[in-house]
Amino acid sequence: MILSSPAYASDQMCANYAEIRNVGHMNIGVNFDIPDPLIRQQFRHAMDFWAKVLDMEWHSDETPRCAIRVSYGTPEVFDFDDIAQADDPDLDTFRGDVAFNAAYAMTPVDAYSVCIHEIGHLLGLDHNPNPISVMHAVGVKGGEKLELADLSALSARHRMRQRNNAEGLLSIDLPVDTATEPSILIAERAECVPAEACTVRGSGQPELLL
Ligand SMILES: [Zn+2]
Repeated sequence: MILSSPAYASDQMCANYAEIRNVGHMNIGVNFDIPDPLIRQQFRHAMDFWAKVLDMEWHSDETPRCAIRVSYGTPEVFDFDDIAQADDPDLDTFRGDVAFNAAYAMTPVDAYSVCIHEIGHLLGLDHNPNPISVMHAVGVKGGEKLELADLSALSARHRMRQRNNAEGLLSIDLPVDTATEPSILIAERAECVPAEACTVRGSGQPELLL
């Protein structure tokens, strides 16, 4: 899910958000304005992943010179069952914000995949209809990758360190501490009508949106 407006804009805004739009080298400070140790840890892993894929480096930055701010969004920020939202760099309202929904608990692999997905939005990626893509809005199944369309879109906006393999895919390299089963199942909003469609394979679990 991409934010269309800074609904949770605060006085803690990061001044250097434009760094994320750079085509060339990016030096990105991340302000972890969120108490959840799992999200902080997996967001770090996700930034490490992106720093391998793109010409970028990152560091933790609790000052206003940050480029990305990670926080909990207020409940009214989230539509339906959104797990997280990220600013859209193509909008004037872009401020490098990623907001997580405190209503949902995630396993490590959930959190890792969701963090990669949301950072992908900040870097300019839209949703990908291919379920193998980590940019697919339909949940965390484990084993998601950057798919050819994602990599093409990335290379149009940023300088790449890595290219896709022969199959046009790039693994998101799960860190060892994410070696657990994903617990959340997420659907495109359109698939949640009727409401019964929001449960998967009789699990009774509601699907959640990325
Ligand atoms: Zn999304």
